[in-house]
Amino acid sequence: MNLYPAEFIETKLFLKYKTRRPDIFCGITKKGSLSYSFHTTTTEEEREKVKNSRALLLEKLGFNNLVTLKQTHSDIIKLITKENIFDYISNPYIVGDGLITKLKDVLIGVSTADCVPVIFISKTHNAIGIAHAGWRGINCKIHLKMLEEFKKLPTKPEDLEIIIGPHNRVCSYEVGRELMEIFPEKYFSLKDNKIFLNLEAIVAEDLSEKGVKNISSINLCSFCNNDLLYSYRRGEERGRNLSFVGIQA
Ligand SMILES: [Zn+2]
Repeated sequence: MNLYPAEFIETKLFLKYKTRRPDIFCGITKKGSLSYSFHTTTTEEEREKVKNSRALLLEKLGFNNLVTLKQTHSDIIKLITKENIFDYISNPYIVGDGLITKLKDVLIGVSTADCVPVIFISKTHNAIGIAHAGWRGINCKIHLKMLEEFKKLPTKPEDLEIIIGPHNRVCSYEVGRELMEIFPEKYFSLKDNKIFLNLEAIVAEDLSEKGVKNISSINLCSFCNNDLLYSYRRGEERGRNLSFVGIQA
């Protein structure tokens, strides 16, 4: 298993990941006064704040469009094309947990607070993807379904670069015994009578088995690096970090 630490640089608003493609921007927004998720807002005032935060992010990155979905821990993946992009931009409540596009000047994003953001980048042509994968999404194999969608474009597994973003890592992702009936034993570790699950290892090994060679992980845990990232498990039920990827125009 070839999972090495991904490099990133920290800016005021976000962490920007290094990729092999200088025309592709990807990263995650930092915890702070900005909010990026529509589906955790409850008032019009909060929704305005999200809109303004998104506009600022686009401006900082030099992009014009941002597409996100209403995430439900599903395996639903949406392909964003020039025919449908305006449906998605005008309605951020379309349900799904994975996005793929070949379009330039479009940031696609998923919001997380402990779940695993997975970024897909084609090294050979313009195709990018992003998935929101908690244990439920991983259990329904959203990461492998993303790979199947990329094959249709077509992007070969060996031409993909995968970056696994910050999430609640095995250091502190305590789970109940019932999850041991779902995932193989090798992904769990026991410490002081507690059970911890390594979600990124499942994602990485599954993708590796299907021929993906270039997989890296950002060495940050949302629970342990709570100064930088929101953590649902620390009681931050509404704050979200937005992971994003886009091809520069
Ligand atoms: Zn941790």
